[in-house]
Amino acid sequence: MKYSRQRELIREAVERSTHHPTADAIYQEVRKKEPNISLATVYRNLNQLADNGIIRRVAVPGEPEHFDHTMAYHEHMICTQCGCVVDIWPEKPLYEQFEALSETGITGYDLILHGLCRACADRNNLKQD
Ligand SMILES: [Zn+2]
Ligand SMILES: [Zn+2]
Repeated sequence: MKYSRQRELIREAVERSTHHPTADAIYQEVRKKEPNISLATVYRNLNQLADNGIIRRVAVPGEPEHFDHTMAYHEHMICTQCGCVVDIWPEKPLYEQFEALSETGITGYDLILHGLCRACADRNNLKQD
């Protein structure tokens, strides 16, 4: 990929964020510095960055995809209440376990866990008291 200032701004915006932003959230962020950038440009660059293994795409069925600032291995849980993405860090890569269980090997997997994030769980507990 050849250098592009806009893509650099987009990459920085993803890397600064720890909350798995959507393309739209990145667009709002980058627009502060680059008011003329279009949402289509943000999408195109996010896809290029993800295709080149620089950022990670988190696909959530029925929802806009999210982008992750770290390529370090981990899984994701979606909060069933507020829809935020929570990082889950398995001790051993799940890929290896599935690979070992499969007779012919696997080429990948899509896994989205569902549950409550800390903030929603705490809020629910407060309501019960
Ligand atoms: Zn939540
Ligand atoms: Zn993550």
